[in-house]
Amino acid sequence: MRTTAEEGIPVAIEEEEAVSASGNAAGPEGILGTRWLRDNEERYRASFDQAAVGILHTSLQGRILKCNESFARIVGYSPEELVGSNFQEITPPEDRDGGKAAAMHLLSGEVSNVSFEKRYLRKNGSLTWVTLTISIQHDDEGRPQFFLTLAQDINARKQAEELLAAAQEALRVSEERYRTAFQMSLDSINLNRLSDGIYVECNNAFLETTGYTREEVIGHGSIELNIWENSADRGRLVEMLNRRGVCRNLEARFRKKNGEMYWGLMSASVIELEGVPCILSISRDISEVKTAQDEIRHLAFYDPLTELPNRRLLLERLRQTVTASKRSGRQRALLFIDLDNFKSLNDTLGHAVGDLLLKEVGERLTGCIRAVDTAARVGGDEFVVILEDLGKTSEEAAARAGSVAEKILSSITQPYVLAGRECRSTASMGITVFGDGKESSAAILQQADIAMYQAKAAGREAIRFFAPELQAAVNARAALEGELRQGIRNREFELWYQPQVDRGRVVGAEALLRWNHPRRGVLPPAEFISLAEETGLIVPLGNQVLEHACRQLAVWSQRAETAALSVAVNVSPRQFRQADFADRVLAVLESTGANPKSLELEITESLLVEDLEETIAIMNALRSHGLRFSLDDFGTGYSSLAYLKRLPLDQLKLDGSFVRDMLGDATSRAIAHAIIWLSGEVNLPLLAEGVETEEQRDWLAGLGCHAYQGYLFSRPVPVEQFQLLLDRVREEEESGAAAAPWICRTGRP
Ligand code: C2E
Ligand code: CA
Ligand code: CA
Repeated sequence: MRTTAEEGIPVAIEEEEAVSASGNAAGPEGILGTRWLRDNEERYRASFDQAAVGILHTSLQGRILKCNESFARIVGYSPEELVGSNFQEITPPEDRDGGKAAAMHLLSGEVSNVSFEKRYLRKNGSLTWVTLTISIQHDDEGRPQFFLTLAQDINARKQAEELLAAAQEALRVSEERYRTAFQMSLDSINLNRLSDGIYVECNNAFLETTGYTREEVIGHGSIELNIWENSADRGRLVEMLNRRGVCRNLEARFRKKNGEMYWGLMSASVIELEGVPCILSISRDISEVKTAQDEIRHLAFYDPLTELPNRRLLLERLRQTVTASKRSGRQRALLFIDLDNFKSLNDTLGHAVGDLLLKEVGERLTGCIRAVDTAARVGGDEFVVILEDLGKTSEEAAARAGSVAEKILSSITQPYVLAGRECRSTASMGITVFGDGKESSAAILQQADIAMYQAKAAGREAIRFFAPELQAAVNARAALEGELRQGIRNREFELWYQPQVDRGRVVGAEALLRWNHPRRGVLPPAEFISLAEETGLIVPLGNQVLEHACRQLAVWSQRAETAALSVAVNVSPRQFRQADFADRVLAVLESTGANPKSLELEITESLLVEDLEETIAIMNALRSHGLRFSLDDFGTGYSSLAYLKRLPLDQLKLDGSFVRDMLGDATSRAIAHAIIWLSGEVNLPLLAEGVETEEQRDWLAGLGCHAYQGYLFSRPVPVEQFQLLLDRVREEEESGAAAAPWICRTGRP
């Protein structure tokens, strides 16, 4: 910096001169005055050197006469390096005019000092900010001597200010960006109050998606506008937000103004607007994505030809079924179905016809199963069916699965019309029953597959069970079913009669079915009724029963001693549910000439489970012709007072199990007692079944029950024997002998 000899003049001297000059000017005369001057001067020097603020003396031409350490530090030089140089040398070129202007201003005398901020060029080339306060020092005559500059380093403040400015700018930009993003976003964005869902703000996408105008939205609530398909979803969202503050990727269905629904994928967070918690919600219409997903799912899990679940979905369902059966203990079955002649049909008639056949088979399969079951296509001409919930025991399940399999087989063997040609197809079927959760799904599939090959080996168009014992049980059942059909055709069934006794008189008889089996002798209903119900054979069988009973009634009506007898006939639910049941009963009464007033129909509570109204209507229709209804096996079912009050009944039949147990067991006694009380409550006569001992009868009589049926009086017997029984009763009555203590005479008391 010191470049010339002239500039090299020691500033300190010049300075000292200047200071002493000014000191002289201020100081008084004499020794004291001189000392004061010196003291004053020293004090100034000390404060000059030690000052935290930068101090600079500059000549009127701008040459640096003197500076302290603090000033030197600000600009990054030593004081020695600075002295003698021009202050403009440490001023960045673009700021130099500013310095000159300030100097001129001061020199003009208009002001005593000026303050401004300026930058210095530091030794290392960087810029540094300072606040300068400049004044002019004058000599005694008032002539300007030099500039006194106080420099304060404001770099830190400047930096902070710059940062602040930058931050403000950034904020401005980001707010603008936010506004733009908010409005331009393709996603629907809205702000609504957490407390009540009232919309505070929303963007265009929201309006476009929902179809509302701004005015219709702002100030109104999502619930009021019915935007959520399921308003509980909003509750869930709020709950989630209350817990976690944010919620990401919630899928929900929303309603547009025009009522159309759409799927939204929504993220939301809670923000405070002027102290009010609001939900900032961003959502996107993903209906198309959903549809695409469904399609993809469909492609992945369904067979495109038959629309049935494919192997993959079947395995998934099977896995679920196995798990469910482990929990519930209910039995299920898996059927493996393989078409017998598909390959040759495909080869001779072509693939297009083959495809048509597979489609048709798929439809027929679906038609044979319930909604809870699954039919799947697992290979070219291989199908699998899962049958759910087939009962508690594997025998029961095997029987049911067997009958579904029969139905499927007979459906598949019906002729097909494919592309105008009639074709036939048969199938081989393997069945396995599962339910204890021990087998894996793979093992279950394999078992059914093995059984299917056995069916093929047995000559095709056949059904085989994997477990030999189930196969045997099913075979026996199938044989019995065949015999039952034949038995009905050959009229091998007859009715036996068991007397019903009321206050010591035989008032009627229950007709109980017996099968005169050609090989096995007389079979009780326990051996065949459930099979008849499952196979639907109960309908023709029940018709025969009705015919028999009515014919008997007609016969009895001819004789005075038997004319007052009634006959009770058991009607199974399936029979009752036949569309023309009432008409059929009336037709039988008509054709046999039996008196409808003598016919009593025994129904069970299982009939009340479905379609109570329909049941009541049928009962009323028949009762209007004089028929009566008894509720059989009373006490074993629901026995709800509400049901009982609504049903048009004429009598309750206390189930024999209570009568049997009541003398030994206090609980049964209590139940019997309660049931007897209940019958009084609904104002219906009660007949106790299964009365075997006098003790039982006496106990019942003590409780007010006076109508009985049971071995005490007679077992069910063939009609000839029943008539002999009645004859004997009458004879005993006439002779005054009372060998049978319970019977006085026939007819209603
Ligand atoms: P149910 O209607 O409860 O018939 C009463 C059953 O109890 C009869 O059995 C009868 O023989 C038996 N029984 C009567 N008194 C006594 C007794 O003192 N002690 C004992 N231990 N048993 C007694 P059965 O004849 O074997 O009939 C059994 C069930 O078969 C009947 O029960 C009924 O549900 C059904 N059934 C009978 N005939 C028909 C019919 O024609 N149609 C329909 N759908 N079901 C019938
Ligand atoms: Ca009965
Ligand atoms: Ca009964």
